[in-house]
Amino acid sequence: MKKPFVTLDQLKEIVKEYPTPFHIYDEEGIRKNARRLKEAFSWNKGFKEYFAVKATPNPFIVDILKEEGCGADCSSMTELMMAEALGMSGNDIMFSSNATPEEEFVKAKEMNAIINLDDYTHIDYLERITGIPEKICCRFNPGGIFKTANGIMDNPGDAKYGLTKEQMIDGFTKLKKKGAKIFGIHSFLASNTVSNEYYPTLAGILFELAVELKEKTGADIKFINLSGGIGIPYRPDQEENDIYVIGEGVREAFERILVPAGMGDVEIYTELGRYMLAPYGHLVATAIHEKHIYKEYIGLDACAVNLMRPAMYGAYHHITVMGKEEAPLDHKYDVTGSLCENNDKFAIDRMLPKIEIGDLVVIHDTGAHGFAMGYNYNGKLKSAELLFKEDKSVQLIRRAETAADYFATFDFCNLFNKK
Ligand SMILES: *Cc1c(COP(=O)(O)O)cnc(C)c1O
Repeated sequence: MKKPFVTLDQLKEIVKEYPTPFHIYDEEGIRKNARRLKEAFSWNKGFKEYFAVKATPNPFIVDILKEEGCGADCSSMTELMMAEALGMSGNDIMFSSNATPEEEFVKAKEMNAIINLDDYTHIDYLERITGIPEKICCRFNPGGIFKTANGIMDNPGDAKYGLTKEQMIDGFTKLKKKGAKIFGIHSFLASNTVSNEYYPTLAGILFELAVELKEKTGADIKFINLSGGIGIPYRPDQEENDIYVIGEGVREAFERILVPAGMGDVEIYTELGRYMLAPYGHLVATAIHEKHIYKEYIGLDACAVNLMRPAMYGAYHHITVMGKEEAPLDHKYDVTGSLCENNDKFAIDRMLPKIEIGDLVVIHDTGAHGFAMGYNYNGKLKSAELLFKEDKSVQLIRRAETAADYFATFDFCNLFNKK
C-alpha cells in the first residue's frame, strides 16, 4: 500500500492557505533517503551524489540535498545559475550536457564545474571556447543492447549520448596532450531501473573500461560517475530497490576489477534524480467534476501541465483519495485534467473508492520529473511547490504562476500591462 506522507487533516489546513493544485515535498523523507544512499556507498572514500537538478529544479530542494552533502548535476545555463545562487562551484558541480551551446561551456568553466563531454568533437569545441581544464570527464556509450542477468534493460545503440569506446581511447589521449591531468568516466545506460542489478552491472562495464583506458592512454582516472537511472516502484505491487544491496554490488565490482589494477583510489559518483526525489513528492488536487458518458470520468483541477508523465509515457502514478483509504475500490474511473488533449488523464480505468466533488486527491511519486516537466499548454499556469518540513510545518518554496507571469514575455508591447 502506498501511503501519503500527509494526512487529510494536514491537507485541509494546507489548502486554506495554498489552494490546489500544488506539489508538496517531504523534507524528512528526502533527508533520510539521501543519508541511506551515502551510507550504502560509504565504503568508497570519495563517494558523492550530484543531484540531477533537472528532476526537481527548485533551489530549496537542491539546498536540502546540499546540506546532506550532495552536489549538483547541471545540464543547462539556468541549472548552472541555480547551483551558483546556492553558492556551489568547482567539485560541487558536474556539468553533464549534450549538444551544448558555447555560452554554457563558458559558464561551467567559469564556475570550475567538472565538465562531462558528451562527444569526441566537443574536445576541440571546448578547447576553442575555454581551453581544456585540468579535470575532465567523458561520457561513454557502449552501443548495442544493455543486458543484466535479469534481461534486456535498454538500447544504448539507439541513444544519442556519449562516445564510442574507440573515441574514449582517442579522446583521453587527445585530452592528455592538451593538458588534462585528472580524468573521469560517466555513463547512463538505462532509466528508472527497478532492479538491484543495474548499477553493479554498469559499474562492471565502466571499471573494465577504466582499466583499459589507463593501460592504453596512461590517463589518471580519478572518478567514475554511474549517473542516474535507479528507479522507484511507481506501482504498489512493485518491489523497491535496496540501495544497500546496490552499494554492495558496486563495491564487489570495485574490489574485483579496480583494486587489482591499482585503481583502489577511484572515487564513485552518482547523479541520481528520480531515486532522490520521486517518492517524496505528491501532486495534490481537488475533484471538481464528474462526468458519465461511455465511461465514468472524474475531472481534477490539476492537469498534464502539472504532471506530464502519464500523458507522455502512459506512466502509472498511484492515486489516493484522501479520507477514503479504507473504502472499497469499487468504482472504475478515468481521472482527467482539463487540457484539450485526450491524453490528459492521470489514470485510465482505475479502480478507486467513490469520489465526490471536493474530495482531495494525492497523486503519488511526483517529486522528480513532475513539476519539472511542466509546460503552459492551453495557457494553463504552473502550480506552487510546498515543502512539508520535518517539524510538520509548511513552507512555500515556489509560488504559483499568475497570468502576469504567463504574459511576461510580451513585456516589449503594452497589450497586457496597460496602466
Ligand atoms: C536525467 C539525468 C540524470 C538523472 O536521471 P534519473 O533517472 O532521474 O536518475 C542523471 N544524469 C544525466 C546526465 C541525466 O540526463
